[in-house]
Amino acid sequence: MDPCDTPACQSAREIFHELEEYYDEHNLYFQTIGSVLEAANLLDVPHRLKLILTQPKNEIMVHCPVKMDDGTWQLFKGYRVQHNNVLGPYKGGMRYHGEVKLDEVKTLALLMTMKCALARLPYGGAKGALKIDPRAVSKDELERVTRRLTAALGNNIGPDYDIPAPDMGTNSQIMAWMADTYINFAESSNKVTARGVVTGKPLEFGGSAGREKATGQGLVYVLDAMLPGMKMDLSELSCSLIGYGNVGSWTGRLLQARGTRLKAVMDHTGAIRNAHGIDAEKLALYVAQTGGVKGYTEADAIDEPDFYSTPVDLFIPAALEQMVDLEHAERLQCKVLVEAANAPTTPRAERHLLAKGIEVLPAILCNAGGVTVSYFEWKQNRQSETWDEELVDERLRTVMTRSAQRVLDTAARLNCNMRMASYAAAIEHIDKVYEMRGVFP
Ligand code: NAD
Repeated sequence: MDPCDTPACQSAREIFHELEEYYDEHNLYFQTIGSVLEAANLLDVPHRLKLILTQPKNEIMVHCPVKMDDGTWQLFKGYRVQHNNVLGPYKGGMRYHGEVKLDEVKTLALLMTMKCALARLPYGGAKGALKIDPRAVSKDELERVTRRLTAALGNNIGPDYDIPAPDMGTNSQIMAWMADTYINFAESSNKVTARGVVTGKPLEFGGSAGREKATGQGLVYVLDAMLPGMKMDLSELSCSLIGYGNVGSWTGRLLQARGTRLKAVMDHTGAIRNAHGIDAEKLALYVAQTGGVKGYTEADAIDEPDFYSTPVDLFIPAALEQMVDLEHAERLQCKVLVEAANAPTTPRAERHLLAKGIEVLPAILCNAGGVTVSYFEWKQNRQSETWDEELVDERLRTVMTRSAQRVLDTAARLNCNMRMASYAAAIEHIDKVYEMRGVFP
C-alpha cells in the first residue's frame, strides 16, 4: 500500500522522524497524534508544544500475580499512561479488556488531554488498562486483581496526582475496591480526601449523583447545542447504537426520553432492528439480565452489514475504537455520526463520510460528560459536599454547551471540520498555559 499522504500522516511522520521513533502508519496512536498535529498546524503554536504532545510523559506497565479460585495462578498485565499534566492532575478511565494494548492506552490518554482541555477542566490526560476479560473471571477474582493492580500502581495514582475512573469493562464496584485499597495505604492525615483517588464511585461511598448516566447525558446536551444549526430536532429523529453498555444504554434511554426513536443496536453478542422503534428502557433491562442484545424478542436479529446500512438520522458508536472503517462508512445512511466511544471512526472512514456530506461530531466533544461529572465528584469529595442531580445536570449542561460553542466558533474561524476545530480549541488552551507556566527548568 502507498504511504499515507494526508496532512495528518505527514505531520506525524515529520515529528516521529525528528524524535527518531519507530512508527507504523496503521497504528491508532500514530493516526490520532497525526490528527492532533494537523490541528496544531492550523494554529500559530510553538514547535516545542508539538514535540511535548507527541509523547506521553509516563508509560507505566505492571504485572500482577493473582491466585484464581481454583488455586492456579495467573499474571495480569496492567497499564497507566500519563500523557500530559500541564492543566492539572492526570485524569482518565481504567479499561478492563482481554485484548488491550499499550498503543490503545496511549491513544486514549492523549484523547483525555484533548478532552479535558476542550472542556476547560483543571485536569491533564491519562488512561489505564488491565489485560483481562472481566466476564471470564469470578467477582472474587476481579476484586483480588483490582486490589493488586491498585497496590502495584502505588503512588503513581492519587487525588492530587492521577485520578482513574470507570471505562469499558469497569464500573462503580471496581472503583470502590480501588479507592478502598488506596485508602488503606494512605497516611492517616490524608484518609478523608484519599477517596478522591478515583471517581465514578458508588453514590453511598463518595460518588456523585448523575455520574452513571453522565456520558450519555453530556452527549444529549451537545446535540441540543449542535443540532439547531443543522436544522434538526431530537424529537423528530431516529438513531442506531453500537454498544449497549454504560454509554450506549444511557444514550439510548436519554434520547428516547427526548423523543428520538432507537431503530437498531449492535453489541458483542449480535445486532437487532425494529423500524418502528426499540424500547430503550426495556432493552436496558434485558441486557442487564442476559449480558447482551442477542435474543431480544421485540426486534429482528440482523447481520452486521444490515446494521450499518439501516437508514437513521444519528449513527452513534458507543463501543470499541475503530469500529467504523471505510467499508462500514460506505454502508452508512445517516445524517450525523455522533462519536460516543473514543476514536470509533478510522481516518479513511471519516474522509469518506465528510465527502458524502455526513457530519462527524468528535468524541472529545461528545463524550466529555463522563469526565466532567467525574470532576464534579472530585470537587464534592474535596469539599465534603453532596450535590443533587438537578445541580449536577445544570452544571454539566453549561460545560457541554460552552464546549460545543467553542468548537463551532473555532470551526468558523479556522474554516475546518469539527474534529480539527475541537483539537484546535483544546491545543490553544494548552498552549496558553505553557506560555504562562513556561517549560521546566
Ligand atoms: P461498557 O463496558 O459499559 O460497554 C461496552 C459495550 O461495547 C457493550 O455493550 C459491549 O457489548 C460492546 N462491545 C464490545 N465489543 C464489541 C464488538 N466487538 N462489537 C460490538 N459491540 C461491542 O463500556 P462503556 O463505559 O459504555 O464505554 C464505551 C465507550 O465509551 C468506550 O470507547 C469508552 O472509552 C467510552 N467512554 C466511556 C465513558 C464512561 O463514562 N464509561 C466516558 C467516556 C467515553
